[in-house]
Amino acid sequence: MMSKTYIFGHKSPDTDSITSSLVMADLETKLGNDVLACRLGSLNKETEYVLNYFDIEAPELIEKIEDEQQVILVDHNSPSESIDNIENAKILKVVDHHKIAFETSYPLFVRTEPVGCTETVLLKLYKENGLTPDKTIASLMLSAIISDTLLLKSPTTTEDDKDAVKELAEIAEIDYESYGLEMLKAGTDLSSFSIEEILSLDAKQIDFKDVKSIVNQVNTADIADVMEMKDDLEAGMEKIIEEEELDLFMLLITDIVNSNSQVIALGKDAALVEKAYGVKLADNTVLLEGVVSRKKQVVPIMTENA
Ligand code: MG
Ligand code: MG
Ligand code: MG
Repeated sequence: MMSKTYIFGHKSPDTDSITSSLVMADLETKLGNDVLACRLGSLNKETEYVLNYFDIEAPELIEKIEDEQQVILVDHNSPSESIDNIENAKILKVVDHHKIAFETSYPLFVRTEPVGCTETVLLKLYKENGLTPDKTIASLMLSAIISDTLLLKSPTTTEDDKDAVKELAEIAEIDYESYGLEMLKAGTDLSSFSIEEILSLDAKQIDFKDVKSIVNQVNTADIADVMEMKDDLEAGMEKIIEEEELDLFMLLITDIVNSNSQVIALGKDAALVEKAYGVKLADNTVLLEGVVSRKKQVVPIMTENA
C-alpha cells in the first residue's frame, strides 16, 4: 500500500508554510487523497500564536524522507529551502508563490502565482474544486495572508490577496485588522530566543549572482529594541559567515508598524547594500525606508547590482 503523501512548506517555517501544509492537507483529504501535514522546523512565535488562538495542532515535524516518498510542496519549491534529501522524493504537486527554482525528470502538478501568499492560491483551488474552506481553515488562511503581506501593506500584496482576506474574514467571522495586528506583534517577541535562533528564524540562503548570501528577516514593533542586541547579533553573523563561507549576511529588522527596515550588513560584499540602495552603511547598519519585502525589495535590486 502506498504510504501517505507528505505535505510541507519550507525550512525555518513561517505562518504561511505551516498553515499551507494544514490547509492543503484539508483540501487533499476532501479530494479523497491520503495525506499528512508536516513541517520542517519549529514554530515561530507568530505561528504559535495562530495555532493557539484557533486551538489547532501543529503539523508533524519531519527531518528526512524515505526514497520515493510522495510529497506535496507548499510555499516553496527551491531544493535549498526544502527537506535535506528532497532529491529522493517523488514530488506530486507544488502550490506556491515564489519563482520556480527546481526541475524534475517527470511531469507534475505545479500551481504558482505572483500573489502575496500561498493561501491566496489555495483559496482559488478550493473554489475550482467546488469547495469552500470551513471556519477554522479560513482562519488559518487569513492568518497566513496577513503574515506574508504584513496586513496587506507589503508591496507583494495583490488585489487577489485583498479579495481573499475579505472573503476569508467573513467566513472566519474575524475582525482581521485588530486580530492581524495582535498576531504580527506576537511574532515580534524575541525574548525567549538565543542569538543563534534569532539569526535563523526567517533566514534564506540567496545568491545574488556570485555573491553567496543569507538574508534573514526579523519583524519588530520597535527597531531600537532589537538594535540593543546589535553587538551580539553581529558576532553571531560573523560566525555564520565563516562557517558557511558567505560573502554577505543581511539582517533585516523590519518595523511592521511603520513599514521600514533597519539592515545590518556584514561580509566582504557588504558594500553591495550601499550600491543597491544608494546609501552609506555606518557601523555596518542603515535604515532602508519603505523596505519591508525581501522578495520584492531586496532580491531583485540586490541581484541587479551584484
Ligand atoms: Mg514562507
Ligand atoms: Mg509565503
Ligand atoms: Mg515570510
